[in-house]
Amino acid sequence: MYDELYHGEKKRKVLIVDDESINRELLGNMLMDKYDVIYAANGKEAFSCIESSKDKVSLILLDLMMPVMDGYEFIKLYKEDKKVSQIPIIVMTSDADSEAEIIKAGAVDFIKKPYSMPEVILARCERIIDLFEKKRLIDSTKIDELTGLYSKEYFFEYIKQMRESGFVDEVDMDVISIDVENFHLINEVYGHSKGDIVLKRIAEILEKQVENRIGIAARSDADTFYMYVDSIEDYQTLLDDMMKEISSISDFPASIRLRMGVNKTIDDNESPQKIFEHARMACNLVRGDYIHQIGYYDRALHDKQIYNEKLVADIDASIRNKDFVVYYQPKYSIQHGDPILTSAEALVRWNHPTLGMISPGDFIPLFENNGLIQKLDKYVWGCAASQIKKWKDKYNVAIPISVNVSRIDIYDPELENTLIDIVNAYDLKPHELQLEITESAYSDDATRLVEVVNSLRKKDFEIEMDDFGTGYSSLNMLTTIPIDALKMDMSFVRNMHKDNTSLKLVELIIDISRFLDVPVIAEGVEEQSQLDTLRELGCDIIQGYYFSKPVPAEEFEKFFVG
Ligand code: C2E
Ligand code: CA
Ligand code: CA
Repeated sequence: MYDELYHGEKKRKVLIVDDESINRELLGNMLMDKYDVIYAANGKEAFSCIESSKDKVSLILLDLMMPVMDGYEFIKLYKEDKKVSQIPIIVMTSDADSEAEIIKAGAVDFIKKPYSMPEVILARCERIIDLFEKKRLIDSTKIDELTGLYSKEYFFEYIKQMRESGFVDEVDMDVISIDVENFHLINEVYGHSKGDIVLKRIAEILEKQVENRIGIAARSDADTFYMYVDSIEDYQTLLDDMMKEISSISDFPASIRLRMGVNKTIDDNESPQKIFEHARMACNLVRGDYIHQIGYYDRALHDKQIYNEKLVADIDASIRNKDFVVYYQPKYSIQHGDPILTSAEALVRWNHPTLGMISPGDFIPLFENNGLIQKLDKYVWGCAASQIKKWKDKYNVAIPISVNVSRIDIYDPELENTLIDIVNAYDLKPHELQLEITESAYSDDATRLVEVVNSLRKKDFEIEMDDFGTGYSSLNMLTTIPIDALKMDMSFVRNMHKDNTSLKLVELIIDISRFLDVPVIAEGVEEQSQLDTLRELGCDIIQGYYFSKPVPAEEFEKFFVG
């Protein structure tokens, strides 16, 4: 395919630049069969040679020590000339120590003098020509329209070819991912055209980077940019410079913050997609972080990822084998004399066959990210429902259990049917299986949440608003969403006796619950003093280590069996 594009059967043109005729001839003889060879005796001649050549020159073989215009100067001028600088240069040198310098200056490869092994030299020339022709082909077709950078697909393809050609073997490359902090806000507040200006400016800066260093850049999607460049240490300066430049966009009121992920631990066996996924992961580490703007993909993150991959791979088998165990934590009503057990919260644990006991903090966020949480939640809801039934049958007590409904579940069109099937299967009333929905689900998609909650309540399910007080939308939400209980976020109780603001917030939340005429549940109560204060303030229900940690079902029985 590439051959057709580049003058069909015709030989490609190679320019040899050397002041010593014996060297020109030696090299020329090696290449003559395969290439159309032309010659120049110094840099100046080389320029006019390229200028006057009818056909495109595919490769320049350049000597460094020459009169009139030497190789170094040629390279310098060559880089300034857009047309000429598209042609790859291989430097011929007897000075092996200057390798790095030569590559940095802008040559793509070098050949050692005196010449030995013609077949190696020929292979090198072929490889470089092929690589650059492919690059040009990509350049001409696969460009992101808005920014002029490579599209992601071709960027990856190009990296693959760079690696296959051995081009990057001599050079350490960094894998960089760049994002604009809160880009959607820029679009929303200032309009899409302003957003586009920001993206274009970032692209220009990256373009300059890869021109001055060795590498390529791409826009991956939306506001995510990728760069594959020779390694440097100091990315903070680069990032600061970028932000300064972007902020200089005229009449742009907000300051733009960028974040960056750097992956230096490149494993050659991993695909370009993978190494950039890692850089992106590192970049996400510093999302919303106002102190650090650069995240590094390091050993710890790598291990964490492997661990996460294992968890994802094992979830199905573990559901089948009942490795997920549901624990129950009691909730007590405290306003009338001795505390009375009112209900329990179902909290899942993973008794992993090889990794041991894993707490939900380690796998719930992961499964929320990839949607697997839906499976697990259904399983937990089923366990909780069957537990209510078991206690009814065995002890003739009806203990409602609340289950956690993940924000992801809210988007499941089958949510309501699933829940109805579960309560029916165990002959329960919907209000016996209470649903805890985290307040932050409201900021994801308020309209959706209100719809779902309304619909579930019509079917007699009771909704507890979990982690209440942490989302910015708290008050706003309560006027639009009907609920059956407020669960105050644990942080308020934890800090209640440490700072006055938290105490005031506890009072406020209890006031809100009175206004709404729903009970308020305080989580994370560990000490008598906390319980006393909460009781005084009028808090209705308490959950926390003060009464008990979450425990297995059999152990929970002690709370209601006399
Ligand atoms: P959450 O829903 O806010 O649950 C309360 C967490 O606080 C539980 O942590 C509980 O063990 C802990 N806790 C209760 N009392 C105290 C106390 O007095 N002191 C302290 N320090 N902690 C207390 P756990 O079990 O580790 O669960 C963490 C989170 O994982 C839960 O937060 C919930 O968001 C999520 N989760 C647990 N099980 C499930 C589940 O089946 N489905 C979903 N979607 N999420 C779940
Ligand atoms: Ca909860
Ligand atoms: Ca909570």
